[in-house]
Amino acid sequence: MNQRIVIPIADARTRRALPEGTAAVGNGEDRRGRRMRDLRISVTDRCNFRCTYCMPKEVFGSDYPFLPQAELLSFEEITRLSRIFHDLGVDKLRITGGEPLLRRHIERLIEMLAGIGTLDLTLTTNGSVLARKAKSLKAAGLQRITVSLDSLDDARFRAMNDADYPVARVLEGIDAAADAGLAPIKVNMVVKRGVNDDDILPMARHFRQAGHIVRFIEFMDVGSTNGWRMDDVVPSAEVVRRIHAELPLEPIGRSYNGEVAERWRYTDGSGEIGVISSVTQAFCGQCTRARLSTEGKLYTCLFADAGYDLRALLRNGVDDEQISAQLRAVWAERDDHYSEIRGAQTTVARKVEMSYIGG
Ligand code: SAM
Ligand code: SF4
Ligand code: SF4
Repeated sequence: MNQRIVIPIADARTRRALPEGTAAVGNGEDRRGRRMRDLRISVTDRCNFRCTYCMPKEVFGSDYPFLPQAELLSFEEITRLSRIFHDLGVDKLRITGGEPLLRRHIERLIEMLAGIGTLDLTLTTNGSVLARKAKSLKAAGLQRITVSLDSLDDARFRAMNDADYPVARVLEGIDAAADAGLAPIKVNMVVKRGVNDDDILPMARHFRQAGHIVRFIEFMDVGSTNGWRMDDVVPSAEVVRRIHAELPLEPIGRSYNGEVAERWRYTDGSGEIGVISSVTQAFCGQCTRARLSTEGKLYTCLFADAGYDLRALLRNGVDDEQISAQLRAVWAERDDHYSEIRGAQTTVARKVEMSYIGG
């Protein structure tokens, strides 16, 4: 029997000290010349799925110490921070988790964020409750949505989400999102060799017809619990080759600087796909993302082992001006480029989990 390993992620060890002086705030670029453009906000560390590559059951069991409610950032706190980030140049917000649609009254948060100003506001979900939420999300001001789906094969999907959740319900959610006008819809598929690589073509075929964009994601070594091995990664080049052999593709440029997906369109004009090659073709050079964890820590890289405690600033009466100065100072110091040096790592640091920081 597997021994249960409990890793308390949200403890003091994952805190990084904020810069003391805020004088050296620079010109808005980090140490590698990158600007802050996107903010991913994790609104819960909980999820009703146990995807084997993200929240394996052996670790995230019934006794797992998820964050208590009082530790979570409130909607007011998230909105206040988002406004400060927006003033610093962030024009894209993505709500994520855990499963963001499990956070109660999430529509209220969307409404508050939509009120901030001109922003691209989107959300990533496992789609499990999307069928009944799509309309209210759209009405609240959500513009687009990304739904994660790893297989169209019911048995395989149930095994991958490890919650015995049927694929039909996620497909209903995707249809409801399309009906509600949450377009264009992106469908994220994490590809694991020997697990769901047979689904690459069926997924491409199915969503090409529906007009949704499938994004094939290389299985990543995020966190410390998913048993990642390079052998499990299907390189994006292989994904493109396999689709192209049946449905010819040609490359399209990225739609904006910092876009992580490499885009390809079907030569017959029937749509496009994306591939996200975080393992085989690192894109750290264009990484403009900041991440806000469920209890208000700022992470400047998906692979960081610690975050800056912004909640402490919020709850200690620090004003917006000072928080803004802190954020600029943190960003000016940023030197993250983990994916570029992954192969050279000799020691494995304890990295933060995807479900806590948001994908
Ligand atoms: N629960 C929501 C969902 O699944 O869409 C949002 C959070 S989830 C952490 C965000 C994205 O991260 C999902 O598309 C998921 O497939 C992806 N993801 C999680 N673990 C991953 C891993 N080890 N490698 C690549 N992508 C991963
Ligand atoms: Fe939950 Fe999303 Fe992680 Fe799957 S990928 S376990 S749905 S947070
Ligand atoms: Fe950005 Fe870190 Fe990923 Fe590189 S490894 S793309 S810096 S999040």
